Amino acid sequence: MTERFTGTFTQQEPIPEEAIEAAVAVMRSGRLHRYNVAEGEVGEVALLEQEFAAAMGSSYALALASGGYALGCALRALDVQSGDKVLTNAFTLAPVPGAIAAVGAVPVFVGVTEDLVIDLADLETKADQASVLMLSHMRGHLCDMDRLMAICNAHDIQVIEDCAHTMGARWNGRLSGTDGVIGCYSTQTYKHMNSGEGGFLITDDPQVMARAVMLSGSYMLYDRHLAAPAPEVFEAVKYDTPNVSGRMDHLRAAILRPQLRDLDRQVARWNERYEVVEAGLRETPGLTVIERPEAERYVGSSIQFLLLDWREDQIDAVLNRCLARGVELKWFGGAEPSGFTSRYDSWRYVDAAPMPASDRVLKGIVDMRLPLTFSLEDCALIARIIRAEVSAVYQAG
Ligand SMILES: *Cc1c(COP(=O)(O)O)cnc(C)c1O
Repeated sequence: MTERFTGTFTQQEPIPEEAIEAAVAVMRSGRLHRYNVAEGEVGEVALLEQEFAAAMGSSYALALASGGYALGCALRALDVQSGDKVLTNAFTLAPVPGAIAAVGAVPVFVGVTEDLVIDLADLETKADQASVLMLSHMRGHLCDMDRLMAICNAHDIQVIEDCAHTMGARWNGRLSGTDGVIGCYSTQTYKHMNSGEGGFLITDDPQVMARAVMLSGSYMLYDRHLAAPAPEVFEAVKYDTPNVSGRMDHLRAAILRPQLRDLDRQVARWNERYEVVEAGLRETPGLTVIERPEAERYVGSSIQFLLLDWREDQIDAVLNRCLARGVELKWFGGAEPSGFTSRYDSWRYVDAAPMPASDRVLKGIVDMRLPLTFSLEDCALIARIIRAEVSAVYQAG
């Protein structure tokens, strides 16, 4: 009998009861706007920011409308101007080059290695072209952050980290998002905490934080923040920083606070699932497992593997055969992006030079979500199905 998987790859866990109750209390109060607080009340957003800064080991945190907004806000906070070049990954998600384009800046793509991280040799050759790198830890893969920071420091490049898939991850013990001058996070439904839409920005730099708070739309109410610098720091920037509204509201913050307390436990649960799938895929002929470095503590909320140098019709066959058995894979290398765009040649508003070595990797990347609604048995079954179908197509040649 052929095994079939019947779970749903886009089904997340319910919002915790405690979070639902906190959200209902906010709705009963009628005070949803972050600066709408009663006498003596601090508000869910300010509390969340304080807790998020503590959890990420950062001095300051700002809760925002989305991860993509956080990236744009970070660029503006560093005073990136229209026409400036910004280095970024050739393999990332559309909101990253989109944030750069939205401030009128020009993305300069840096290649991707077979380990699915930014190509540091390519970064070195392009380092003199820009003073900002928007580094995307795409699908949760951390590059050698020690070497990356050494390259960027040597070239006076400021680093903005896109931690959409690395909230809770670490490199050499350091939490992702704390190496660069700014770390950005998303709390969109498919990331590591779920408020539908939402995001964060963290930094240790008081001037950068003051600018970010003003940018997010603080209407001179910055003294209501608990994870921001002292009011004096705002004096220097408050008349010169435009308002580009993108705040978070109390409702989403109420939903996120209990989830943040649970983050470490969730990370462990994702990694259990990841390890089961990874073990099940090892030594499948023709399939390359992405080896994770010792220094990396990842969050396995999705898994990738490579079908390196396979023909397009073979990869298509694997995807179709897996789908017929209930396993939904995404092929980042597909000629037409569907449901997402993740490779540099899909963003035709950027005039990018071809990168043959990256193209070879991008063509072979297959991706799968690992929602926490999957049991460990589900994960073992999924791995068996992928293994069988990859082997069948590979043997047919
Ligand atoms: C989801 C995501 C973002 C942005 O998140 P939104 O909250 O959807 O704007 C940025 N980068 C990567 C790699 C992502 O996957």
